[in-house]
Amino acid sequence: MTESGPAARAAADPANREPLVVLSGVNKHFGDLHVLQDIDLTIHRGEVVIVIGPSGSGKSTLCRTINRLETYESGSITIDGKELPSEGRELARLRADVGMVFQSFNLFAHKTILENVTLGPVKVRKQKPEAARKRALELLERVGVAHQAEKYPAQLSGGQQQRVAIARALAMDPKVMLFDEPTSALDPEMINEVLDVMTDLAREGMTMVVVTHEMGFARKAANRVVFMSDGQVVEEAEPETFFTAPTSARAKDFLSKIL
Ligand code: ADP
Ligand code: MG
Repeated sequence: MTESGPAARAAADPANREPLVVLSGVNKHFGDLHVLQDIDLTIHRGEVVIVIGPSGSGKSTLCRTINRLETYESGSITIDGKELPSEGRELARLRADVGMVFQSFNLFAHKTILENVTLGPVKVRKQKPEAARKRALELLERVGVAHQAEKYPAQLSGGQQQRVAIARALAMDPKVMLFDEPTSALDPEMINEVLDVMTDLAREGMTMVVVTHEMGFARKAANRVVFMSDGQVVEEAEPETFFTAPTSARAKDFLSKIL
């Protein structure tokens, strides 16, 4: 977002934003484990939502369910008003609207960095190879790894690979980006180079759901914190409110352990 002024500020007010990802009454089990319990969650266009909570609370499952890497039993999930189909070609196309960046970088090991970024746009978005290549190089430039375009993932550092993973997701022109602990597998000195790219994306208005324990990033970039525990959304608040005055006992307990 480069505009400023009243219109841009009004658009930046979460209350004025339109819903982009809407989960209502979503339930999911793994066997006896009720891993998502009646999840109601709305992510508005342009909003940056941080999801935090103890290990095992269902954060990854929530992300995976949003783009149908996992099925769910009841409730509904819509992306820009459309329910994701559970299979088929339509699913691949709609899933491309949801960019996902995982803890482990998940690049294709036997493809170059450039090929990693062009593959989806050519196969799923049906872009011409030349156009996909041009755009991929722009995105790699933007995340600071354009000079590595002809290398293979193993030749890059973890931080660089994760930035490639972000570029690869962005190449599909997603409507929303999901990040599942994108920096937790990184050496400490590489964390900021990834968070900086994410902070820029947030500033540019990308809709983002970020599972992270990086509180500095949450405070700087997030519009809202969603706290999950035991498969439930227990608390939602603006970052400052959540970190300084959590209301639920479970959030207080969690924060006392990580802060
Ligand atoms: P988080 O990301 O918050 O740590 P997860 O969503 O990964 O939590 O996991 C939530 C719970 O679901 C955990 O108890 C985990 O062991 C369980 N779980 C996750 N994936 C599976 C699976 N594929 N099969 C069975 N149980 C799973
Ligand atoms: Mg997880």
